[in-house]
Amino acid sequence: MVYRWRSREANYTVWGANRDSMAEVIKSHLFEHSQQYLSHEDPGVSWECPYCDRSEISYDEDKTIQHFKDHLFEHEEQFVQSGSHVAEEIDRSGNILVKAPKNSPGLNNARMHFLAAGDIVILITTNPAARLRMLREELGSWPALTVVLTTKDDPAEDIKGLDISDVPIEIVKLSKKLGLSTLGKTISRVLEDHGNSEGQIVVEFDILSEIISKFGEKPTFKFLQILTNQFKTVDAIAYYTLDPDSVDPSTISLINDTFDLSITATETNFISDTE
Ligand SMILES: [Zn+2]
Repeated sequence: MVYRWRSREANYTVWGANRDSMAEVIKSHLFEHSQQYLSHEDPGVSWECPYCDRSEISYDEDKTIQHFKDHLFEHEEQFVQSGSHVAEEIDRSGNILVKAPKNSPGLNNARMHFLAAGDIVILITTNPAARLRMLREELGSWPALTVVLTTKDDPAEDIKGLDISDVPIEIVKLSKKLGLSTLGKTISRVLEDHGNSEGQIVVEFDILSEIISKFGEKPTFKFLQILTNQFKTVDAIAYYTLDPDSVDPSTISLINDTFDLSITATETNFISDTE
């Protein structure tokens, strides 16, 4: 079960499977946006609720602030919606940038969230074995079809030891010397083959930082404009993983426009924050 809460005042949405950790994130956000209702004037600390006539004054700063946060949340708790999915934000078709450190629990949390929504899963990755192992171990059952596009030298060797003999998997080997247009055409071909099949297509694009460092931000930007349209044409949910520390902040703001949604993934929450 995934919950969603959307701020009524700021462009801020949070999703999470755990209500308590959601509550903490929401409280921090509300508190940040309610500083004008808090006063530190001597001899104490005080707050006045912007929504009702509750107020508090005391010497104990930590406790008073905690009460303020808890109280602000009381007004919002009714707006925490259950049974949500991040992809609903884009009507289950479009492109999502997922920011999280490489190999972080947050990134894996996002992967499972999106992959679980897929009937046809397309993985564009340098780590086919790790991705397939995750599918096997974390999802209750294999997708109807999994297509792996990888630059791994010997993908068969990489996934040796994984028993996938009965699993519908297609592996497409990409050349390491591949240019962006060839990569784009290869992806097109996969989408042509499977784009009309029954079921939701979910794409993990796991080589964004490699592409940025190899080809530069402008060519990457153009490539993404074409690619994101391609995925939209087949109503795919496509998510692009990116370690925000691996690229310039200016690069992120440049490519941000090509995505329908951008989220930061932590171990417990997904936060969309476009302020
Ligand atoms: Zn109140």
